[in-house]
Amino acid sequence: MRPITYTRAASLEAAIAAFADARGEARYIAGGTTLFDLMKLGVERPALLIDLGAVPGLDGIRIEGDALRLGATALMSDVAEALAARGEHPVLSESLLKAASQQLRNMATIGGNLLQRTRCPYFRAGHGAYPCNRRQPGSGCAAIGGLDRGQAVLGTSEACTAVSAGDLPVALVALDARIELQGPEGRRSIPAAALHRLPGEAPDQEFALRPGEIITAVVVPRTGAGRASTYHKVRDRESYAFALASAAVVLEMEGGVVREARIALGGVGTVPWRAAPAEDALRGRALTPEGALAAGRAAFAEARPGQHNGFKTELGARVIAEALMIAAGRSRS
Ligand SMILES: Cc1cc2nc3c(=O)[nH]c(=O)nc-3n(C[C@H](O)[C@H](O)[C@H](O)COP(=O)(O)OP(=O)(O)OC[C@H]3O[C@@H](n4cnc5c(N)ncnc54)[C@H](O)[C@@H]3O)c2cc1C
Ligand code: SF4
Repeated sequence: MRPITYTRAASLEAAIAAFADARGEARYIAGGTTLFDLMKLGVERPALLIDLGAVPGLDGIRIEGDALRLGATALMSDVAEALAARGEHPVLSESLLKAASQQLRNMATIGGNLLQRTRCPYFRAGHGAYPCNRRQPGSGCAAIGGLDRGQAVLGTSEACTAVSAGDLPVALVALDARIELQGPEGRRSIPAAALHRLPGEAPDQEFALRPGEIITAVVVPRTGAGRASTYHKVRDRESYAFALASAAVVLEMEGGVVREARIALGGVGTVPWRAAPAEDALRGRALTPEGALAAGRAAFAEARPGQHNGFKTELGARVIAEALMIAAGRSRS
């Protein structure tokens, strides 16, 4: 039995100081819906849990000038419902409403969703049953050459092919959102696209956070294009399942012509994947179902499937095409 100490931080400064004092043995906790799971599986073994739930100023949704500010401890369900009621940024509310289940969304937070770890079954297998570079650096990767139906086809390396699991981060990448952080060295802000790191040779270093840093908020630009957006997700079941392939699309149309398209993918990449080749294929062209599918296929030109996940390239292309046509329909309304 390992003893675990729990503390409920009263301020950001107190949380950061407690983390530093624990010398690498602490974890922040928000809703606990992922962290407790990983502790039961022996993947995470903290000696100290620092609860962020009572830290003032981290919750809530605010409009600040031409930006939307989502607090890190705001609940996924509250944010989804508030945005859906206002008809603002459907890509955001849909990415949240299509994630997990209502019970989980009532506990889980925006910050926790961004920092959830991979669902690779080998990573999560009980108490290190399989080699996994993400769990134990240098031990190998059981997924390569193994059961890889759910693994990534974009951004993989010789060390790891695990999919980045969350839906919200995909929407944030398409919206060019920023993540605000506070840690021992002060405050900073990074693009949402820089939060998740490619596995390369060090898949255990999943996030661009420095030791002790806390996500304090997500800042999303409010533009007209936000309304012509969608999050389209295909999964094995219609609810309560992670994406096999998903696409977040934010579209600016002029007449029937695409002025700008921002596309990010989930379920297919080792990080939330910005599909620049698809965006390039669309810019300045009329949007047709055939053109949308060609753009979708362009996004997978560099895909490197394994043994059982080759279907993701065509599925992903079709998900992009469908998402584009949904977003285009919204740009006309
Ligand atoms: C059965 C099941 C199905 C699911 N399906 C989906 C799905 O389809 N799509 C999807 O996107 N997600 C899915 N999830 C994941 C779920 O959305 C996450 O568990 C949840 O978002 C995590 O939020 P939390 O507040 O509970 O995080 P916690 O479990 O409290 O924390 C998660 C991690 O983030 C860190 N952390 C939390 N907040 C902060 C912060 N502000 N600053 C720094 N570090 C922080 C913690 O230290 C921990 O490492 C599913 C989960 C389950 C159990
Ligand atoms: S794909 Fe990554 S997370 Fe999965 S077993 Fe290999 S190294 Fe571990």
